[in-house]
Parts: sequence; structure tokens; C-alpha cells
Amino acid sequence: MANERIGLFGGTFDPIHFGHLRVAEELAIHLKLDRVLFIPAAQQPHKPRHGPVDFKHRLAMLELAINERAGFETSDIEAGLPLPSYTVNTVRALKQKEAGELIFLVGYDSFSHIKSWRGYKELMDMTAMAVFQRPGTVGDRRSLLSLLGEAIGTPPEWEPSVGAFVWPDRPCIYYYEGCRLHISSTDLRQRLAAGDSVRYLLPEAVRDYLNKRGLYSPNN
Ligand code: ATP
Repeated sequence: MANERIGLFGGTFDPIHFGHLRVAEELAIHLKLDRVLFIPAAQQPHKPRHGPVDFKHRLAMLELAINERAGFETSDIEAGLPLPSYTVNTVRALKQKEAGELIFLVGYDSFSHIKSWRGYKELMDMTAMAVFQRPGTVGDRRSLLSLLGEAIGTPPEWEPSVGAFVWPDRPCIYYYEGCRLHISSTDLRQRLAAGDSVRYLLPEAVRDYLNKRGLYSPNN
């Protein structure tokens, strides 16, 4: 629908965990999003080629993780786009498909490298973004302000009523500080490889799925 607000949450999701789910939930409420699309990367430019488990498994785990939350959906769009998966291409393709207002959701840990993203200016012209704090990482509103000034060439203004950095003539950048779950996929993969428990760090259905297939076990 044309007046929907749609969050685009890209990531490797290798595997999806409660840190991802919780921040999506908080942002959906904070930004009044009607839908959130979880978009697994087919192959991220900044992550090693051999790293992630198969796209189909990461997508299946995402589906298991979100299937009870109305408004949360997965998108396999990157499977049909050229590799590696550049965010600018993904968002361009989604703009053709989705009629609503798009807001790209991204952790500060990823966004801090924005100037090295292919076509980042086009990306920031095309879509609003919401940059959120990720627990255990550095970066605050002040450092985001200087990063945005450097990236665009003109510093934005902070607009407290919107909770966003704004320019007169381009999409805004929301900033959000609420997330508290210090969980990472890297840590989960290490635990699984060592045979340690990952219970209560990710949904049970996902734990079941990856255990049954031995997805992150040392022999796989
Ligand atoms: P890895 O450890 O493999 O790098 P990851 O846990 O960082 O994985 P990604 O799939 O790369 O997960 O992350 C996708 C997005 O989710 C990024 O924008 C990242 O900042 C955010 N994110 C990941 N974990 C958390 C968390 N615990 N809290 C909030 N945001 C998170």
C-alpha cells in the first residue's frame, strides 16, 4: 500500500538471533512501521565469500524466527540480483516492488563504514535510514552527525520531534539508542562449533533447525 512505512532490515543473519529480532521489534514500534522486511544478503561485499551458510538455510531460519509476528516478512530479493549484494542495488530493486515509504534499518557498526559502500550517495538519496546503536559497539549521536556531514558534504540538523537528522532536500536519518541485547552471530557460530549451548540466544525453532542439520558444527 502506498502509505505504508516499511523497514528494510538487511544482514547476513548467519544465524538470526534475538539481538536482530529485538531491535526490529523496537524499531517497528518506535518508527511506526507497518512492515519489516528481513533481507538476507546473498553475498555481502564486506564479509568473506566462504563465511555464511547457504542462503536457503539462512532464509529458512529467518522464516522460522518471524513467522508469528504480524508485519514481519522475509525477502529473497538478493538471490535474484548480481553478486556481491550491494545495498544500493537491493534498495533500488525493492523500490520497484514496494509502493510504501522505505526506511533502511542498520546498526551503527555497519553504518560507520558507509563511505566504503558502493553507491552510498545514491542509496542515501533513495531512502531514509534508521541507524541504531548496537550493544558492545562504539558510536553515538554526535559521531553520527560528523559521519553524515563527511558522507554528504553538508552537515544535517538534528530534529528532536522526529528523532532524526534532516537536510532540506534529502531523506532523513533516524537515530535510535534503545537496543540492549548483546548477542552476535559470530559468538553463536563459535559456541556451536565448540558444542556449547546457544539456548535462549535465538528462537527454539531456529536452534532446532540448525541442530538437526549440524549447520555450524565443526564437521560441516
Ligand atoms: P556477525 O557476528 O556474523 O557479523 P551479526 O550478529 O553482526 O553477525 P548481521 O547479520 O551481520 O549480524 O547483522 C545485521 C544487522 O543487525 C546489522 O545492522 C547489525 O548492526 C545488527 N545487529 C546484529 N546483532 C545485533 C544486536 N545484538 N543488537 C542490535 N543490532 C544487531
